[in-house]
Amino acid sequence: MNPKPPAALPRRDFLRHLAVGSSVLGLGPTLMRASGAPASAPAAPDLARRAYSGPNLVIVRWGGGARRKESIEAGTTYSPFLCHELLKRGTLYKNMEITKLEGLNTSHGEGTLNIMTGHYDRYKDIENGFLRTRFEPKVPTIFEYMRTAYDVPDYQTLIVNNENRPDEEFYNFSNHLGFGLNVRSQTLSLYRYKTYLFQKQLAEGKLPEKELKEKRDQLAKWRKADARAAGKDEMPPKMEEFWMNWRGHYGDTGFVNERGDRLLTQLTIRAMTELKPKMVMVNYTDCDYVHWGYLDHYTRGIAIMDEGLRQLVAAVEADEAYRDNTIFAVIPDCGRDNNPYVDVPCQHHFNSRSSHEIFALLFGPGIAKGQVVDKLCDQSQLVSTLGKIMKFETASAESRVLEEAIA
Ligand SMILES: [Zn+2]
Repeated sequence: MNPKPPAALPRRDFLRHLAVGSSVLGLGPTLMRASGAPASAPAAPDLARRAYSGPNLVIVRWGGGARRKESIEAGTTYSPFLCHELLKRGTLYKNMEITKLEGLNTSHGEGTLNIMTGHYDRYKDIENGFLRTRFEPKVPTIFEYMRTAYDVPDYQTLIVNNENRPDEEFYNFSNHLGFGLNVRSQTLSLYRYKTYLFQKQLAEGKLPEKELKEKRDQLAKWRKADARAAGKDEMPPKMEEFWMNWRGHYGDTGFVNERGDRLLTQLTIRAMTELKPKMVMVNYTDCDYVHWGYLDHYTRGIAIMDEGLRQLVAAVEADEAYRDNTIFAVIPDCGRDNNPYVDVPCQHHFNSRSSHEIFALLFGPGIAKGQVVDKLCDQSQLVSTLGKIMKFETASAESRVLEEAIA
């Protein structure tokens, strides 16, 4: 579908709104295909869950929104490490798509949830906010599947989020019967750090009263925003310790640490040392700044992601806990438009063919090397594939597995 700018907003302003809040535009009344929750819910996690001894997993959300052209195509890539180094180490699905389904928007929130749940669905902002994407997953996320099957603590299943996407702070757990808060993942982001920091500053009481009041109000607002977890969502001691160390190193100002996607890389690498996650999803976002209208925001964002990916791979190779025992999955949340004649290039909200065109690269132990798969496949197939490799059930996810990748 082709959402139009509201009459009151000039086109460029409209696109800026998209950039800031992402989008849940144009959701028509037509129902999605019948692929909702299963008739019988999986059993609640029991106390005798097995210890996990399979490979670790790093999912890199190659985004927000990136085309094949600048990523995996050798003549036009802005990500040389991905294209020239990593492709030969694994299996590339070069014709992966986000299926065209009425009511399914090709945007960041939706794409992220397609990747996390292995399931296409129509989402609506829970507060009916304009251009907001505060969604709640309706079927379990890959993190919940893993924690239901194995005795893995929440602080070892991590989502690493960009500060400019507060709506994505709430994708940690689904509303699905038998899953949810008890098997949630944890998040690393500046939002979470500020939650920790403000609480500490209030307890310490050293700031001027005006500032303390602002922080108290802000905390109350954030607490209200996560109603599903209200009163049941204490920060685990391990996460507190992580943020305590972060504060010790980077201080209270926010001026010392990296920003944007470089911060996500920094957080992930630090977490690998301190929290030893078994499953981590790094939600890169920087190339989405192209919504402001400048193509080099997009290509520079891709280059920053590529450098981040290089650092993540190097960190894995340098750490005994991860070396030779970690699978990577690199997959965009959505593609982008190809039309070179528009005012603002590389959008992704207009249901263009190329906004549906993505790819996936898997590499690591047990993944076939140097293989390029041409056949059409779906973004929703990643979860069942990873479930098969890591040996856990993914009952509500698309059942077709990306078989070629499994060596
Ligand atoms: Zn966007």
